[in-house]
Amino acid sequence: MDIRVQKTFEALFALEDIREMLRQSLPGSAGPADMDGFNGQIRQIRSIIDDLEAGTGVPEISRIGDTLGIRSREEEYINIQPIQAAGRLSPEARKALIAYGDGYSTCDSCRKPFRLDKISKPPIADFHQELAAFLNMDTARVVPGARRGFQAVTSSLVKPGDPVLVSSLAHYTEFLAVEAAGGVVKEVPLNENNIITADAVAEKIEDVMGQTGKTPALIMIDHFDYQLANEHDVEGIGKVAHQYDIPFLYNGAYTVGVMPVDGKRIGADFVVGSGHKSMASPAPSGVLATTDEWADTVFRTTQMKGDLTGRKFGIKEVEMLGCTLMGSTLMAMIASFPAVKERTWKWEDEVRKSNFLIDKLLEIEGSAVLSEYPRKHALSKVDTTGSFDVVAGSHKRRGFFFSDELSKKGIVGEFAGATRAWKLSTYGLSWDKVRYLADSLQEIAEKYEIKVNSNYP
Ligand SMILES: *Cc1c(COP(=O)(O)O)cnc(C)c1O
Repeated sequence: MDIRVQKTFEALFALEDIREMLRQSLPGSAGPADMDGFNGQIRQIRSIIDDLEAGTGVPEISRIGDTLGIRSREEEYINIQPIQAAGRLSPEARKALIAYGDGYSTCDSCRKPFRLDKISKPPIADFHQELAAFLNMDTARVVPGARRGFQAVTSSLVKPGDPVLVSSLAHYTEFLAVEAAGGVVKEVPLNENNIITADAVAEKIEDVMGQTGKTPALIMIDHFDYQLANEHDVEGIGKVAHQYDIPFLYNGAYTVGVMPVDGKRIGADFVVGSGHKSMASPAPSGVLATTDEWADTVFRTTQMKGDLTGRKFGIKEVEMLGCTLMGSTLMAMIASFPAVKERTWKWEDEVRKSNFLIDKLLEIEGSAVLSEYPRKHALSKVDTTGSFDVVAGSHKRRGFFFSDELSKKGIVGEFAGATRAWKLSTYGLSWDKVRYLADSLQEIAEKYEIKVNSNYP
C-alpha cells in the first residue's frame, strides 16, 4: 500500500483508540484514567503524522481486529466499477460515519410519536421534506436500498397472480420484488436500438390484458438500465401508464443523485433511488418517493392490535416496519446530500467525460461500444472482442493480461478476465483521471501492437 495511505489509516485508527480512552473515562474527570497510556498513544500518533508528512515509515497495521483487511481501493486506484462509482462517499459522509457509528445513534432525541422520519434533531424530518422536493414528489422515505423501495410498492399494490410490467433489461431485484408479492413479471421488449419505448409498453399492456384478462397492477421501468445504461422513454411511458390507469414506478437507481430527476414531469407515481449506488451514501440506503395519491397506500400505518394486551402502535408504517435507517447510514446520507444535490447540475460534464473516454476507446482498432452512442450516461458497455480479446487468445494469462496491465497502471474495477464485453463508468473521475484512463487503454493497445487510429472517426 502507498505509505501515505497506509499512514493515514494508521492515524485514523490510532485516533479511534484515543477516542475509546475518552469514552472510558468518568464524566467530568480531568482526563483519561490511564494518562500514561493516553500520552503514549499521542506520541504514537505524532510519529505516524511525521511519517505521513514525509512519506516515510513501514506499515505497522494491516488488519482491523484479526479478520478485516484495510480497503484502500479508492485511495490508491482509479476505480471504474460501475456499481461503485457514484456511491463513493463524500468526506462529509465519512465524518458522519465516524461520529454516528453507534447503533441507534439517530434516536437520541426521538420523541412522540416515535418515528424516524419525524425526528427533528438531528434534522431527519427536514431531510425527508428535502428529499421529496429534490425529486419533485410529495412524500419520501428512506429505505435500505432501491430493492426495498420496490418491495414496499409491490407488497402494497400487487396481489398474487397480478401481472407487473418490467423492462427486458430489468434488474434482478425488480423480479424478486414482484415475486415476493406473488406477482408475475411481464417483460416489455426492446426495440432495435435496445430502448424501451412508450409504444412497446402500450402493446405489452394490451397483450397481457388479452392473454390474462387482467390489467397489470404496476409498471416498473428503469430510466437508465444497468446493462447498457441506455435511456428509456420514461416520460412517454408515464403517459401510457396514466392512459391505462396503471401506477408507474420510475426506477432511478442509476439517476437519482447523479442527474436531475423530476418525478411529476415524468409522471411517476413512485420514484425509487439507490443511496449506495448513486447518492454517495453507505449501504444499505435508498429513497422511495410518491405522490399524495399513493402515500396512504404505500405508507399506511399499522392497524394491528394485540389480542391480550390490546397494544397498538399508532403511526408506525407497515411497509417501513416502523423505522428504516436508524444510524450512521442515514446520517452519512444526510451529510452527503448537499454535495449530491449540487453534483446533479454537473451531469452534462459527466456525460462529456463518458463520451471522451468512449471515443478514445473507439480509436483502438477492433473496439466497439454496445451501449447507445453517443453516450448519455457515465456507465457504458464496450466490446473489445476485436482488440484486447485477440491478445488474450494467445497470452499465457488469457483475459487476465488485460486486468494485469490495467492494475499496473493503477486502474481497477473492470471485470477481471473479461476482454470481450465489459462495463465501465467514468462517473466522478476528474478530467485528469479520465484522460489518464484513456491514455492507459491506448498504451496497453500499442504495447500489444493493436492499431490506434488517433483521428477516429
Ligand atoms: C443497482 C440497481 C438496483 C438495486 O439497487 P439497491 O439499492 O442495491 O437495492 C435496482 N435497479 C437497478 C436498475 C439497478 O441498477
